[in-house]
Amino acid sequence: MKTGLFDLSGKVAVVTGGNGGIGLGMARGLAEAGAAIAVVGRNEAKSKTAAAELAERGIRTIAVTTDVTDKGAVAAMAERVGSELGRIDILVNNAGINIRKPPHTLDPAEWDSVISTNLTSAFLCSQAVYPAMKAAGGGKIVNIGSMMSIFGASFAPAYAASKGGIVQFTRACACAWAGDNIQVNAILPGWIDTDLTKRAREQIDGLHDRVLARTPASRWGGIDDFAGIAVFLASSASDFVTGTAIPVDGGYSVMG
Ligand code: NDP
Repeated sequence: MKTGLFDLSGKVAVVTGGNGGIGLGMARGLAEAGAAIAVVGRNEAKSKTAAAELAERGIRTIAVTTDVTDKGAVAAMAERVGSELGRIDILVNNAGINIRKPPHTLDPAEWDSVISTNLTSAFLCSQAVYPAMKAAGGGKIVNIGSMMSIFGASFAPAYAASKGGIVQFTRACACAWAGDNIQVNAILPGWIDTDLTKRAREQIDGLHDRVLARTPASRWGGIDDFAGIAVFLASSASDFVTGTAIPVDGGYSVMG
């Protein structure tokens, strides 16, 4: 994939939650395109395994154990990436969790945990890498939303709030940083087969079949479906694309 517009050789990407699921799918795409990758997650063993797998593509990788809800840890992460990989050109804000409860039983601490992991983390990480991107003459930030950036769900009040918020945060940063040549976009995944949705399928009766019935592509997404969009939004192919929220959903969001 290392040709012209999509070539990421010499670039450095930070991928939060890059040790598994959609984050790993995107990290693989970025690595194929030639970027060095910093895999950021809490689970050190998982991050090291992912970093080792990515390095097999001939790129530099590091695993940075970080809780992205912790401002100090995020600042230390950005500093370590800058000093060990030399620069930061791409940030993928992908780390996310869900706690599935209706609004009337969701504890405020659970609300805070989902909002801080899915939304505040994107603010902390974006703010932490901004000086490095500005110094490099530009950058690319990719935020991960959801179908719940668009639709509601009775079992996901905090999650839907965080994913709606991430789209508006994306737009605000796109406006703020266009003059620094930093493009900021969001991806809205449909229903993708990962650890996160394995739990959802266990907890919500009939979910698997309802998703299949509503998805024009007639399948759940896989993590490989995110490699191409990640490379597009991280490369010069998207230099005039900013503030967007692009569904990667097999048509789920356009199904009437
Ligand atoms: P996974 O559960 O497979 O991955 C979540 C990732 O987030 C893990 O790598 C985890 O790493 C990391 N993470 C969670 N909390 C933290 C934290 N506090 N600090 C650092 N890393 C953290 O889920 P998915 O791959 O499915 O989800 C990835 C993103 O995609 C999320 O934002 C999710 O909301 C979104 N999404 C997923 C959809 C799907 O159908 N799967 C649909 C729509 C959106 P570790 O445990 O090491 O911390």
